[in-house]
Formats: sequence, C-alpha cells, structure tokens
Amino acid sequence: MYDLTNIDTIKKLLSAQGFNFSKALGQNFLIDPAVCPEMARRSGVDAATGVIEIGAGIGVLTAELAKRAKKVVSFELDARLLPVLAKTLADFPNTEVLNEDVMKVDLPALIAGHFDADDICVCANLPYYITSPIIMLLLECGVRFRTITVMVQKEAAERICAPVGGKNCGALTAAVSYYAETEYLFDVDRSSFLPPPNVDSAVIRLRPRTAPPVAVTDEKYFFRVIKSAFAQRRKTAVNSLAAGLGKSKAEVADALARLGLPANARAETFTLAVFAQLAELLQ
Ligand code: SAM
Repeated sequence: MYDLTNIDTIKKLLSAQGFNFSKALGQNFLIDPAVCPEMARRSGVDAATGVIEIGAGIGVLTAELAKRAKKVVSFELDARLLPVLAKTLADFPNTEVLNEDVMKVDLPALIAGHFDADDICVCANLPYYITSPIIMLLLECGVRFRTITVMVQKEAAERICAPVGGKNCGALTAAVSYYAETEYLFDVDRSSFLPPPNVDSAVIRLRPRTAPPVAVTDEKYFFRVIKSAFAQRRKTAVNSLAAGLGKSKAEVADALARLGLPANARAETFTLAVFAQLAELLQ
C-alpha cells in the first residue's frame, strides 16, 4: 500500500508518468495525513454506503473512502492520472475510476448503473474552478445524497454556510440552503497541498433536505429572483431585481412593500421565505 501523503512517494509515482500539475484543472493534491481520514469519517460513509468522489487525483481520499465504504466511484478528468490510480488503488477492489468530466455525465443514470446501494454520499476535494456548478449539479440532479462532504476554497465555504438573511449571504448561499442544510466542518491550510495553492480551504458538509423549506410554485423563476437580487451587490434589491427581471422599479418596490420591506432593502437581508414570496408576487 502506498503512503499517498508522502511527498517522495507522490513525486516518484508522478514522475514515472512524466506528470506535471495542471493549474487549470485545479490539481493540488492533499499531503496532510490527517485531512482525508477526517473527511471520510465526517462524511458518515459506512460499509453500506456507495460514494461518489469528484477528482481522484492520485487517490489519497479515494483510498480512505474505500476503507470505509461499500463502493467508491471516482471521476478523474485527467487521463494522465489513470495509470497512477491503477497502482495506488490496486489494493482497493471496491473502487472504480471513471475518466469523465463530472459536469458532462448523466449522474442519476451513472449512479443507477454503478451502485446497488440506496445510501449514496459524495465526498471530494473539489476542483475549485467549478465549485459552484458542481455543488448545484449535485443538489439539482435528482439524486438525494445522504451527505455531500466537500473541500472548497475557504471563502466559498464561508459563503455557502453563511446564514440566509445575514451579511455574508449571496446567491449561492440562498440556492444551496433551499436544497440542503449546511455545516462548516474545519479549515485546511494551503500548506496541506502539493503544490500549495494561493488560497486556504475548508471542508463543508451538506445534508440534502427531504422537502424544500419554503413553498415555491416555479423553481426556475425563484432562482432567477435570487440571482437577480444579488447580481449587483452594491445596489439595493429594487434596482438589482428590476434590472434582472425586466420589471419597473415601482413594481418591485410595490412587491417589497407588500411584504413589509422598505424600498432600500438589500438582498442579503432577505430570508428564503421572502425570496419565495417575491417570486410569487413578481412572476
Ligand atoms: N482528490 C485528490 C486530493 O485530494 O489530493 C485531488 C483533488 S484536486 C483538488 C482536483 C482533481 O479534480 C484533480 O485531480 C483534477 O484533475 C480533477 N478534475 C478537474 N476537473 C474535473 C472535472 N471536470 N471532472 C472530473 N475531475 C476533474
């Protein structure tokens, strides 16, 4: 079994393939031996769980997940890593690596084809350049994962886990909290990676809800309202919503007034219930 957090081992494995790190693919591999076991533990996977991992890298988290889970299916877009993964995961027959772009697969079909478990979790150290699209894909794909435990850039973690209606709330906060409960688990310093990125990281856990926390008639329009409200952060919600939804400011101000909100209200003070009611009033 390889020690995948040992820098010499990693360098030997990678240089055998003539590998150089791709910044564009977000290739920063974990070398802190404490992080992957803790992520796998906090994800709550057990011997009955099927796990999806996005971005296997050299398999350092994959191996930790495989020790605990029934089966791990890992996406890895970079074909140069496949021969490395064949070596590092050779001792884990319950792993499968798919050389696919996670953003382009039919996730429900893939999960149905690869797992016989009902209990499916996601655990991954995400490629940061597509953090938001991946999280929204996981929440909107129609599969209810038990937990989604992911490492993201620290600022993204703070934004995603901020309370809706608080000053750090953004469109992603509101959208994620419609689908899931969020928890900020722990920080990971930039020195925990090879090569070290320019940012610090954090691990968060999402627990997808069994039912939405607010009643929404048209989800597409509800998300358009959220996106529009936060599109121009320096402006009041009236200006942002009017511009984003193609409405007059008077119309938007009237909807806000009907909800007891002042015309100079800002989107970061709105709760999910306010967004839902605004969507009903403005559609
Ligand atoms: N899991 C490893 C670790 O923790 O050390 C690697 C994590 S690294 C931050 C992200 C990985 O995602 C890279 O190996 C990269 O090649 C892969 N990746 C990037 N874009 C991807 C995509 N669209 N689909 C699947 N994998 C992708």
